[in-house]
Amino acid sequence: MRVVVGGGTGFVGTALTQLLRSRGHEVTHVSRYAGKDRISWDELSCSGLPRCDAAVNLAGENVLNPLRRWDYAFQREVVTSRVETTKTLAKAIAEAEQPPRAWVLVTGVGYYRPSLTTEYTEDSSGGDFDFFSRLVHTWELAAKIPGNITREVVVRSGVVLGKNGGAISQMLWPFRLGLGGPIGSGVQPFPWIHVQDLAGIVSHALETEGVRGVLNGVSPASPNTSNADFARALGSALGRPALLPLPTVVVRAVFGAERGIMLLEGQRVVPKRTLECGYHFTFPDLPVALRDIVS
Ligand code: NDP
Repeated sequence: MRVVVGGGTGFVGTALTQLLRSRGHEVTHVSRYAGKDRISWDELSCSGLPRCDAAVNLAGENVLNPLRRWDYAFQREVVTSRVETTKTLAKAIAEAEQPPRAWVLVTGVGYYRPSLTTEYTEDSSGGDFDFFSRLVHTWELAAKIPGNITREVVVRSGVVLGKNGGAISQMLWPFRLGLGGPIGSGVQPFPWIHVQDLAGIVSHALETEGVRGVLNGVSPASPNTSNADFARALGSALGRPALLPLPTVVVRAVFGAERGIMLLEGQRVVPKRTLECGYHFTFPDLPVALRDIVS
């Protein structure tokens, strides 16, 4: 299969590209920068979609960049880097002479309202209560394509855990020094997935005829994992204590109150349709996932 991947140069994209190539597929990235096996977003807009069997979008400015202030300009970048790239790919798919058979967009579980008790499946409502939920709603709408030729799949991902990037790369050094711990109260749910499983779900959706609609990209153990459980498990994987909480005021001071919600609150998300459509998780269990990552 020939697969075009927007934002394929990033953390999730690198894992997905390795997996797809190992399964015999050809991968072309859509990127802001020139390079091998890449086209630019401008080329995609001007010349249309290269001939392919499937497309994926993973492009998006890093929301949790602690060096960027949560001001209007950064918020616009967070939105447009996701929504405009998705629109560009969806338009190219809709206008292709031979449209691809499958189109997968990765968004986030921020679609669902944070809660300590409610469990969310793919059928739960959301997308209408804060900046991130409205972003996911708009982002998923941007992916819609008229007609029925191309299967559309949206993977709503939790926090992606992996060796070479994502949230854990910023947490590792304090935890290695024994300075890690829960964020805020620590009771908030921690929806998580190993990067190999997120890549696996995307690949499964591309390869499996009949898979369409929303899939939750979280591990099956995720609804029962709190932020404090995560901190304890990471400390244990590193053989370090993880008792020092990161106070709420510090999180709000660094990230801003609105963005701090991503760390201070969370959702209990169940991968119901993901399991029903036949995906088998490689890392369903947090301690095993973390041992793999820190090894
Ligand atoms: P990365 O931060 O690694 O970024 C992915 C790619 O997006 C980059 O390689 C870059 O490609 C492109 N990109 C970055 N900034 C911009 C910009 N301003 N405009 C256009 N393109 C840009 O993301 P991840 O791999 O971690 O995540 C992939 C997708 O999954 C993202 O959309 C993210 O929102 C979503 N997601 C990720 C989670 C996580 O925990 N990592 C959790 C939930 C959802 P290039 O430089 O080649 O242009």
